[in-house]
Amino acid sequence: MEARGQHARWVAPDIGALFVVSGPSGTGKTTLLREAFRVIPGLEFSVSATTREPRANEREGVDYHYMSHDAFRQMLDTGALLEHARVYGNFYGSPRAPVERAIAEGRSIVLDIDVQGAEQVRTAYPDAVSIFILPPSLASLEARLRARGLDDERVVRRRITEADEQLAQAGQYDYLIMNDDLVSAHTQFQAVIVAELHRRARRGSWLDAARS
Ligand code: ADP
Ligand code: 5GP
Repeated sequence: MEARGQHARWVAPDIGALFVVSGPSGTGKTTLLREAFRVIPGLEFSVSATTREPRANEREGVDYHYMSHDAFRQMLDTGALLEHARVYGNFYGSPRAPVERAIAEGRSIVLDIDVQGAEQVRTAYPDAVSIFILPPSLASLEARLRARGLDDERVVRRRITEADEQLAQAGQYDYLIMNDDLVSAHTQFQAVIVAELHRRARRGSWLDAARS
């Protein structure tokens, strides 16, 4: 996912934010994130490592770093992953270096990770801003997974069965977005991100500039 901002007058915050986005598979995380990256400048996406097979519409290095179990294990053993989890039968993990670099340089970065990974990130970075995307119902989640048409039936069934485990942790998150009507969900999701980037603590230079 690439950031292509439209706001010509956007000013990046002095200190970036670390965003964690979770929700059951098929709830609309990728859809909401793609649009947020298009309209909000300066947001970076943390490209995860995974042992799952690429989907037809996905690109190496953009959506994920696809790798063997051995390569994943090596990243884990050398401390190269900030967090990791087994989700829906595959391994996923966030490479540590890009996240640490973004934070050190004051840039904002977004992690699309499951609830187990989110818990590990919260422990490492208590200031992380966490957003949970809710489906309107489990029935609509199932319909979306099937309509997406990118996973075979066995994979879809497993994801539906495990959706409840992800939903059970939604209460741990700072923000809830209900992705029912997509246009409203885009607005609400982007509002959360933009508001967080305008916290006073991230905008010290504006206070100085306004009084200069
Ligand atoms: P996730 O990344 O959470 O697994 P996706 O963004 O891939 O989910 O969305 C799953 C499917 O649901 C996609 O086909 C997407 O186009 C569709 N979708 C997303 N949001 C909505 C919505 N509000 N209403 C109907 N379909 C949606
Ligand atoms: P998908 O296979 O549909 O792309 O992702 C399945 C699940 O894995 C989603 O809940 C997604 O958020 C999660 N996921 C993706 N990358 C990571 C990661 O690096 N770490 C963790 N813990 N979960 C991830």
